[in-house]
Amino acid sequence: MKDYQLMCTSCHSTYEPSRIYPRCCCNEPLEVKIDLVGKRIMEGGSVKQTSLERYFDFLPLKHLKREAMLNEGFTALVGSEQMAETLKVGRLLFKNETQNPTWSFKDRGTAVAIQHALSLGYGKIGTVSTGNMAASVAAYGNKAGLKTYIFVNEGIAEEKLAPVAIYGAHVIKVRGEYDKMYDESLRIGEAHHISFLNSDVPWRVEGSKTIAYEICEQLDFKVPDFVLVPTSSGGNVRGIIKGFEEFYQCGLIEAMPTIVCVQASGCSPIYNAYIKGAKTIERFDNPHTMAHAIGNPYPPSGNQVLRKLAEIKGMVTVVEEGAIIPAQKALASLGIFGQPASAVPLAAVRQLQQQGILTEKDTVVCLASGSGLKHTSVLSKHHLPVHTCNLEDLSAFIGGIK
Ligand SMILES: *Cc1c(COP(=O)(O)O)cnc(C)c1O
Ligand SMILES: [Zn+2]
Repeated sequence: MKDYQLMCTSCHSTYEPSRIYPRCCCNEPLEVKIDLVGKRIMEGGSVKQTSLERYFDFLPLKHLKREAMLNEGFTALVGSEQMAETLKVGRLLFKNETQNPTWSFKDRGTAVAIQHALSLGYGKIGTVSTGNMAASVAAYGNKAGLKTYIFVNEGIAEEKLAPVAIYGAHVIKVRGEYDKMYDESLRIGEAHHISFLNSDVPWRVEGSKTIAYEICEQLDFKVPDFVLVPTSSGGNVRGIIKGFEEFYQCGLIEAMPTIVCVQASGCSPIYNAYIKGAKTIERFDNPHTMAHAIGNPYPPSGNQVLRKLAEIKGMVTVVEEGAIIPAQKALASLGIFGQPASAVPLAAVRQLQQQGILTEKDTVVCLASGSGLKHTSVLSKHHLPVHTCNLEDLSAFIGGIK
């Protein structure tokens, strides 16, 4: 039997794991506290087991229901010596989360959260999202045969709706303030017995832990010096930090990496609070980042991210909107087509190197968080050239290309 509780990240009040509302009465996010004594990585490998099976011991789950699994995780850690040299860092690696079942890391959190919902007997799940989380929850809900409700804002681009609706979810465009939907969804969840697997719920954070576990294993338990994470709600970076901390507490690694949250200048509420030395975030006015996946103006885990980074000496940085498209192109030079949010850490590497924070001694891991195919409208900004040629002229044409 695994023993765990939910604990408030701020006031440390504890709750039963069956608590449905994912926040404390002080309104800060809850977190799973699991007893780490005797925990181990299961024998096997990526051919024979899934990431959830491998790290099952560390997860607050008693069983894994196969029908709800899509075998997320075990994504590649791809390096480039050439790019490391150009950017003057020791090693530069990308955790390629575009390889997940619905092409973003959100699948890791959905995978754990849906198992938890099933264990509590839920027949319905939902989420509030316009992007990757919506597709992820819809896919897992469909696989598990659960009724699935996705709340999106009214202004959502059509290109984003079909990739969610294809999974058979009830997609509901909601008129009104998008920010308020998070809280409202939790109330609706209680009233209608729908488990809302929102951005920073404790079980989603548990899923993100596996990113850190995998990085540790992929680097033979030598932790990288820096891990750069594009940050919006803060749920994912909380999970990554928790994963490294747990391996550290178990003696599997000997140090913690420096965690860097990266935001875009068009929406940087966590950075703004961090740079002022504030303990709480303020809503970011008029957000307008092209990195939609990191565009939450009032991140529900923002305060906890500030607390945690202060504790572990992490950092927050911001990149200019103008640096995102070039970084997306540079990422593509490694064969990784990430969406704008995925390119933000790479943009930050250049900046942090210039500031003397990253050096030629450092191993740097960037989270390539989700696929570029999810956000194709931004591609026109690249002015990508395509040639046209008659068949009979093709050979001469190819010969003429330098
Ligand atoms: C959700 C998401 C993020 C931000 O993660 P948070 O947990 O909200 O901080 C970054 N990149 C992509 C591609 C995402 O889908
Ligand atoms: Zn509390």
